[in-house]
Amino acid sequence: MPLRAFQNTYAGNPLDRAGERRSDQAWIDARLADPGSQALAMWNGQPLSTTIDGGAALQFVSAPLALELAGGGEQLLFLGLRPHDDVAVFAIDLEGAADPSAGLLQALGGAFEGLRALAPRLDPQEAAIAAQAKAVFEWRRRHRFCSACGQPSEVADAGWKRVCPACAVEHFPRTDPVVIMLATQEHDGSERCLLGRQAVWPPGMFSTLAGFMEPGESIEEACARELFEEAGLEALAVRYHSSQPWPYPSNLMIGLIAEVAAGEGRPDQTELEAVRWFSKRDALALLRGEIEGLFAPPPFAIAHQLIKAWAG
Ligand SMILES: [Zn+2]
Repeated sequence: MPLRAFQNTYAGNPLDRAGERRSDQAWIDARLADPGSQALAMWNGQPLSTTIDGGAALQFVSAPLALELAGGGEQLLFLGLRPHDDVAVFAIDLEGAADPSAGLLQALGGAFEGLRALAPRLDPQEAAIAAQAKAVFEWRRRHRFCSACGQPSEVADAGWKRVCPACAVEHFPRTDPVVIMLATQEHDGSERCLLGRQAVWPPGMFSTLAGFMEPGESIEEACARELFEEAGLEALAVRYHSSQPWPYPSNLMIGLIAEVAAGEGRPDQTELEAVRWFSKRDALALLRGEIEGLFAPPPFAIAHQLIKAWAG
């Protein structure tokens, strides 16, 4: 039964992750040998896709072909079982300088493309599947060595674990929480929200504030700290809206709406070069691209959804 919750892009993965199967190597081997099983090919973090009707669709390859390309389990990941027909779905992490779509995978057609550019054209469920694979592969590529003793680690549980043969420590894929919040304030009898911009962003782009959670913080404490550090604003109340898996490389964006005390705020000039207040009407106009010279993140970003939820 589908979960009743607001789903941002990259959430809503339809696969049954079937976690209990990951350690059953005989079952994994049998599914990999089955030509009916599928695999999503990724090259340096980019999924293989094809163009359809102005949009895009993930281009899956047969699992036996993926196994052949992988030459073993190191680059393979079991994603889960497709609903309704229980087809096993894997992913393969292709690496290197040569584009495989011009080589071994040429017969399939399709092209590798960065997920950030591709996601808005994909069906949301396919975007979520690609995000799942990308997040685990980004972790794999950054954690090949044991963080306890420095020795090379080995893949286990169909890609979901790495084990150190020297010290036996087990390592699991990371998820790094980030708080992302829309600051709102009562002002002259109505509500307004604060957006900021980083110097590295394209000119004219304004968005919600955000920052990594630190060890030993609650979500609401991280939100209050970031608002004060980046904009000099004091949080009074913090409300959860929704969250978004963000596989660049391994973040979970925790979307919040934070009521702040009176005050204009100021950019810290480190993270933010400018902050600006928007009424609900102006915020909606910003989302629609109707304010000349200014724009907000696109709908697939949780920042857009937070602004829309508050202003709409
Ligand atoms: Zn070790």
